Amino acid sequence: MTNRERIAERVAFHKPEINKAKYVILLIGDGMGYWHVDALRRYLNVARTNMESLRYFGYMTTFMRNSTGEGGLSGEYWDAPSELGSYDPNLGGYTPWQIQPVPAYVDEGATDSAAAGSALANGHKTVKYALNVVPKPEGYPADEAFTVKYYPTIVDFAEAKGMATGVVTSVPFSHATPAAFIAKTQYRKNYGEIARQMIFSNLDVIMGAGHPYYDDNGKPREANFYYWSTNKGPYINDEDGETLYEKVVNGARGRVFVEEKSDFEDLADGDGLFHGGPMPKRVFGLAQVANTLQANRNIDDGDPSDDWKVGGQAFISKVPSLETMTKATLEVLEQDEDGFFVMIEGGAIDWASHANNMTRMLEEIIDFDKSVKAVIDWVNDPTNGSNWNNTLVVVVADHETGHLQPLNVTGDEVIKEQCWGVNCEGWHHHTNSLVPIYAQGVCARALAAKYDGDIKDNTYIFKVMYQAIQRGCYTPILPE
Ligand SMILES: [Zn+2]
Repeated sequence: MTNRERIAERVAFHKPEINKAKYVILLIGDGMGYWHVDALRRYLNVARTNMESLRYFGYMTTFMRNSTGEGGLSGEYWDAPSELGSYDPNLGGYTPWQIQPVPAYVDEGATDSAAAGSALANGHKTVKYALNVVPKPEGYPADEAFTVKYYPTIVDFAEAKGMATGVVTSVPFSHATPAAFIAKTQYRKNYGEIARQMIFSNLDVIMGAGHPYYDDNGKPREANFYYWSTNKGPYINDEDGETLYEKVVNGARGRVFVEEKSDFEDLADGDGLFHGGPMPKRVFGLAQVANTLQANRNIDDGDPSDDWKVGGQAFISKVPSLETMTKATLEVLEQDEDGFFVMIEGGAIDWASHANNMTRMLEEIIDFDKSVKAVIDWVNDPTNGSNWNNTLVVVVADHETGHLQPLNVTGDEVIKEQCWGVNCEGWHHHTNSLVPIYAQGVCARALAAKYDGDIKDNTYIFKVMYQAIQRGCYTPILPE
């Protein structure tokens, strides 16, 4: 049979039908631009990374509102509210791989992770540092809290349908990206407020770093509740960090508290048991480390079993990988017969890119890409009820970080030839570059670039996820 005949046969037997997404899995590589993924593929020297193996590929803008200027409190809080951001492809490029016509253009006024995460989570642009806050009209007093309006997020909509929900990250659980999927507040560094909102939300799974009793090397330290209690500017909070932490340890909102690596692995191993008994329906997983799972470490604990280290420094052996957290989360959430939404963030890709640290960036993006593989394997697993006709998987970035330049080498040469910023002078901030989208499953085709210059916007990610769970999409006539 020729290929043409084979396709004709498939068309004849595949009448299009509308499918809804019972499972929506959004993976966000924080700061992961097109050239970051290219560098990963070159470093691994493979034809395609796991994320690139997803069926549809597109790219999108990431700008926020008020993308110019650094107004507000000390330039760090509540910028001038009403200016609209934009992206000009004549200056920044029509595709992510087009070298920017005006390279400096993409360095100006880039979004932060809070505004970008909010756009992905709720489908609306907001202002710098804000989490799901409706932008105030021009002239509104910048420091007046508690009168702002909030956007519901995809987590709110999923919960309204009875779906389970979760957020997972390689950085503190209360950091901007996971926070953007549930918290509503004007300022991303109101960690006390954000932690409280997350802990008392209906999220079934919360996993990440931010442990008060361990440092960046996973060593015990004097308690530090920065990610549980710090607030700045207007906020609503009535509990201190230690009280919140104690409530989490004691199972707040029915979430079983886990912190040992072996417990994450027990949840992840797929045997349907936890400590020999039934799997918990809700979990708060707090890795025994401060800021990042691995990216901020500065030790060598001599563990020779670490097979994916890039930088020649062993990993902290007591900390689970993002891949393990991903598997654990899927095992917990799949118990809900109404399906689930989960956001999984490779948060420290951004941290390593801010530092222009290629070895650490590669470590982080490798773990992230393995997490994508874990998701693909989960969808392909015939035993859990998921398949590509009831699941939407989307892999995106919230923005690019470091203005990483294209490389023309493979393997270890990628580390030697790394080049960040225009003329390799380094760039330690976010950019406005177009970022890639990889997707497969229900409604995923809507995210594909149909021609060079077919640029989506980050708000469109929400809209496609929303459509996937509310109304569904026609399945492609050709099988996925
Ligand atoms: Zn970010």
